[in-house]
Amino acid sequence: MSRFLSPRLSGLKAYVPGEQPADMEYIKLNTNESPYPPSPGVIAAINETEVRKLNLYPNPDGKRLIDKLARFYGVRQENVIIGNGSDELLAFAFQAFCDNERGAAFPDITYGFYPVYAQLYGIPYEEKPLTADLKIDISDYFGIKKNIFIANPNAPTGAALSLCDIETITESNPGHIVLIDEAYVDYGAQSAIPLTSKFDNLLILHTYSKSRSMAGARMAYAIASAPVIEDLKKVKYSFNPYNVNRLTQLAAEAALDDDGYYRQKQKEVMLTRRYTEVKLKEHGFMMTDSSANFVFVKHPAASGFELYAALKEKGILVRHLDKRRISDYIRITIGTKEQMNTLISELIKIIH
Ligand code: PMP
Repeated sequence: MSRFLSPRLSGLKAYVPGEQPADMEYIKLNTNESPYPPSPGVIAAINETEVRKLNLYPNPDGKRLIDKLARFYGVRQENVIIGNGSDELLAFAFQAFCDNERGAAFPDITYGFYPVYAQLYGIPYEEKPLTADLKIDISDYFGIKKNIFIANPNAPTGAALSLCDIETITESNPGHIVLIDEAYVDYGAQSAIPLTSKFDNLLILHTYSKSRSMAGARMAYAIASAPVIEDLKKVKYSFNPYNVNRLTQLAAEAALDDDGYYRQKQKEVMLTRRYTEVKLKEHGFMMTDSSANFVFVKHPAASGFELYAALKEKGILVRHLDKRRISDYIRITIGTKEQMNTLISELIKIIH
């Protein structure tokens, strides 16, 4: 810390992304990326003609992309905003809707960026404990007079709420924003996008980083009532109007045209998840019930850190979160079946 840092930030604990070491080739199962490349249409969209246009700014609103997204989800253009990853849209939401009077609430075990943004923007926040089996108790969120941030499915547990649960939470907090972060929704949960036409306080976040194989391109979008999107745009246009670059906008459009390709890959990931779960359970591993592209597992014979460290030594990266209640677990991204077979055989050796 330099002596120039504002005291406002001196206590801030920054988010720590999953490691991306360059010392050797790892089987990377630690940041929930897709193991598959983007679709052929996306690869074709990034061509020399388009690269030559990089002297020009992108369309700040992502007009063509927004139009496509709106049609894809059966909403109107004014219900959509694009962002440089969902992290950026989350930051816009915290800035737009939260302050000293309008605090935030989210589970104690969830995406680690929520408390970081709350701290960065000086927003009071409440962490609602998950139940003993690491699930959200929706009654914790009834009429709480706070803006609510819920990842559905949750991370790192993979546990999903039903559409009915989301509706009940949203209905009981009409004066506050209910943000549902659907980063992993394509792996087995139900999207609440259709509910946005019914509730003006419901804000849905989607990312291209997981089920659309574009973590490296940084692309996400939010869908909500027009006034809520307008508020987010106010922050965006006060911060970084050109937040999504030209090539990413093109790639994102092409990905929508290739939806069948992504659905197929999502199905493969879900099948591989099932296969991994069965194999690991056969060897005494315990896990939460995941509707995401990762599994959250533990074993009585080794601590979470031991599993993580032993796997790393074998060239496999998984995520260990050194946090109360979950430090026994590791979170394993679902890769290809071949990658999972390597992981499974190494894990079996470690616990014996
Ligand atoms: N939300 C959740 C629940 C996540 O796990 C992640 C990925 N770390 C994000 C949002 C951020 O994703 P991105 O910024 O790549 O869209």
